[in-house]
Amino acid sequence: TRHLLGRVDAHAGLGAFLHVDADAALATAAAADAARAAGQAGALTGVPLAHKDIFVTEDMPTTAGSKMLAGYRSPFDATVVARLKAAGTVSLGKLNCDEYAMGSANENSAFGPVKNPWDTTRVPGGSSGGSSAAVAARLVPAATGTDTGGSIRQPASFSGITGIKPTYGVCSRYGMIAFASSLDQAGPMARSAEDCALLLSAMGGFDERDATSAQRPAQDYHAQMLAQREGATAAQPLKGLRVGLPREFFPAALAADVNGSVRAALAELEKLGATLVDVSLPRTELSIPVYYIIAPAEASSNLSRFDGVKFGHRAANYTDLLDMYKKTRAEGFGAEVKRRIMIGAYVLSHGYYDAYYLQAQKLRRMIADDFQACFQQCDVIAGPVAPTVAWHIGEQGGDPLQAYLADIFTLPASLAGLPGMSVPAGFGASGMPVGLQLIGNYFQEGQLLHAAHALQ
Ligand code: GLN
Repeated sequence: TRHLLGRVDAHAGLGAFLHVDADAALATAAAADAARAAGQAGALTGVPLAHKDIFVTEDMPTTAGSKMLAGYRSPFDATVVARLKAAGTVSLGKLNCDEYAMGSANENSAFGPVKNPWDTTRVPGGSSGGSSAAVAARLVPAATGTDTGGSIRQPASFSGITGIKPTYGVCSRYGMIAFASSLDQAGPMARSAEDCALLLSAMGGFDERDATSAQRPAQDYHAQMLAQREGATAAQPLKGLRVGLPREFFPAALAADVNGSVRAALAELEKLGATLVDVSLPRTELSIPVYYIIAPAEASSNLSRFDGVKFGHRAANYTDLLDMYKKTRAEGFGAEVKRRIMIGAYVLSHGYYDAYYLQAQKLRRMIADDFQACFQQCDVIAGPVAPTVAWHIGEQGGDPLQAYLADIFTLPASLAGLPGMSVPAGFGASGMPVGLQLIGNYFQEGQLLHAAHALQ
């Protein structure tokens, strides 16, 4: 913990951390040492990590990357934070992210961008960009992230680390500041599938405080990851695993950097005994308009609670209550958050609801059904995480559409609520990391981790 606190300090220029509490971390680390000495240590006892600043924490401020929450302090810990604390982990602090987790590059944080440790002129991905950069720069061995439409998988890919978004409902959303409640999921970001498995076992599991929490017994993802496949051999640990390649995930426009690395990883899976099969997810392109209707619709509702009364920022001068709401929200929210609130309010409004929101919901169901058709032919689905490697900071010139289009390969699994992960697949000619995406059927995290572990 002491060593890493030094690294966090030395690499403050990356912009990964929004808050560090060295004294608290050292005290927790000392308590972990004592537990270890008393023979009470678990796999995560004393492991340093940090939390995406979208999880509320009672002992540290929480901003969600927004000016709106400046000065806010939660009276309780998010379930994910509380469970990792109970497992003995040592939190070093809170990590930068896109404002309310809306973005793909960490360029929408009110507290400045995060730099990609592999090339500090590039973005680390987003919205969990502080998490991916901190792990990639070896400031912490692990971090929490959240993924609504790709925010664990895409920054993991851009930063060359491993991350998993479990099935919707595996991790409690209690205390995770809501963006789009039907899509939001927490998950671990770390250096390996094995570390992710240990973290997810502690983070996940039923929570009565989240009405959408899956009612299942606690899972040992580490044991599931190590479980031997039937008929597998030491040389071919993935023998019998059918890996589906959706043809829509390999368009002609896929960057050569990404295509090359992903194909090499697929060849590696084959060597490990897996068979590659062609499958189709015909509505892949439609996942972009569907997501960018549903997610803003839910966001416009969720973010109505930030009104200057209950949390954080309140405008200094106003004439009446309505004026206070307006000024507070105008000052507190950034451009992307305002854009999402306006789109969401529009698609939910009378006269447009049927044309946009309802259509999107119907297509969401069809996208989920397409996956089930694929899983008749394969056990896991593989492809790229993103169409390109990490772009340069400012390169998109604030064009939101460009960022939305780059979410094409992560949105389908989010809309279907399926587990997905990003595993490092090497580096492109640009020298930047590329991730391989693995998508599993509901609650098949163990299988994803098993395949990823074999690859690593
Ligand atoms: N890039 C997507 C968006 O901006 C996904 C973000 C997320 O998963 N939190 O909405």
